[in-house]
Amino acid sequence: MDENIAFEEIIKNTDRLPTVPGVALKLLDAVRRDEPDLNEITKLISSDPSISAEILRCINSPYYSLQTKVTSVNHAVSMLGIKTVKNLALSFSLVKNFHEEEPVNFAYESFWKDSLIGAVSARSLAEGINPDLAEDAFFIGLLHNVGILTLVRCLPKQYSLVIKEMQTSGCSYHEAEDQVFGFNHMAVGKHLIQFWGLPELFYVPIGFHHQPDNLTVDSPEIEMLTRILHLSALFIDLFNDTEKCLALGLIELHAKKYEFDDKFNIDEIGKKLHEHTRQIFPLFEISVKDNDDYSELIDSARKEIINLSGDLMNKVVQQQREIQKLREQIIRDAMTPLVNYQYFHELLEQELYRSRRYQFPLSIIIADIDDLKTINDAVGHQAGDYVIKSAANCIRKELRQSDHVARYGGDRFGLILPETPLTGGLRVAERLKKAINALKCGHENKALTFTLSFGVATLLPDQDASKDEFIQMAEKALSSAKANGKNQFCAVKN
Ligand code: GH3
Ligand code: MG
Repeated sequence: MDENIAFEEIIKNTDRLPTVPGVALKLLDAVRRDEPDLNEITKLISSDPSISAEILRCINSPYYSLQTKVTSVNHAVSMLGIKTVKNLALSFSLVKNFHEEEPVNFAYESFWKDSLIGAVSARSLAEGINPDLAEDAFFIGLLHNVGILTLVRCLPKQYSLVIKEMQTSGCSYHEAEDQVFGFNHMAVGKHLIQFWGLPELFYVPIGFHHQPDNLTVDSPEIEMLTRILHLSALFIDLFNDTEKCLALGLIELHAKKYEFDDKFNIDEIGKKLHEHTRQIFPLFEISVKDNDDYSELIDSARKEIINLSGDLMNKVVQQQREIQKLREQIIRDAMTPLVNYQYFHELLEQELYRSRRYQFPLSIIIADIDDLKTINDAVGHQAGDYVIKSAANCIRKELRQSDHVARYGGDRFGLILPETPLTGGLRVAERLKKAINALKCGHENKALTFTLSFGVATLLPDQDASKDEFIQMAEKALSSAKANGKNQFCAVKN
């Protein structure tokens, strides 16, 4: 996929970005001003009975351990300050909004569960490091992965590849997103929070929470919040990952590097998380399971880590990076920017499964350069290579974001067109033929013209054919196109 186009598409199509509900929108507007009007903010929050009720429920819960019962938003503001109440109001209205709009097949509950662990650990960390930032840390901890939801919404099909990538290579969200999109949820989340008009203090840490070392902003508070968010993201890994000892090791390593190690104690954070998540999960309608004992998880990670020296830890991290790199090399074609034959088969398997599950037609095209041998003989092998590269670029440019194209063999390309009936497949083949015919390219001052033949095949969701049979259908159609005189397309329906 062309990463620039995809990112531009997300950030320019603002109507596809998650929206902010009424109260939060007005609230954002009020807090954006240079001198926010406290009365106005209090009135705004009070005007939404469900948000006010949730705030009061939260503030009166043991999480805030207040001695007196808080009975109104006004009272809450006087007890805890406008910042806490405003952040809670934003948290509830934004989380609720996403809840209502997310696609059903997204693992919504575990997403928000992780986000709440992020929020609670960020707040606990900030309490030890810089208490003034505790409420802001909670808020951005809760929303730090909002870019994932945005990607799921804007590019749902491609996001299923991210999930698959995570499952096969065991990498994290941002690494899998980099693989599939060439950018990740940090950049998208940063853009969204900025688009909502929230301050730099919120969107910059969200934009760098896995890579705080890349931060170039000259603000101690932003730097501190980014580091806090980085550690809280590692706490999420610690409670989710199979490699808990690695996450724990990384928390200890980075806490030392940031000189936070004397400002908090990991076991204390574990205890707090255990208590606080029990109190706060129900407020966000997330269920608490009996096995969510974070102190125990830290203990078991520590037992594992006892045997690992710092050196070994670095080796593990290094190895994981190398595995990532290898995987990238394995799926890429060496000459063109396309993926290779093996990955084409993986993709086709996934798309066949999806087309049957979600009941849509799937088309494929096998395209082959006409008479490349003659071109090689007439103008040389390098010119032949140049023709292959030009054809690859031209095909990629003509396809939709959601289509896939691989270099299938020497001068052969495999195209997968999800959600495309035969008519659509034929239209694509026609468009490609025209684009190739109109292509003007030259190599070493020699004009080069070439053509391609295309074999189109379509499977309807209820048609029973294996992946290999499907490919054979397209290859048969390609043979007909070649036999009929080349520079044309033929189709096989079934
Ligand atoms: P047809 O119209 O029937 O497709 O004829 P063709 O000459 O293109 O031959 P065919 O597709 O059967 O075989 C592909 C040829 O392309 C074989 C080889 O000479 C050439 N070829 C394969 N890979 C490469 C490559 O990486 N670079 C170059 N320059 N040529 C290649
Ligand atoms: Mg050929």
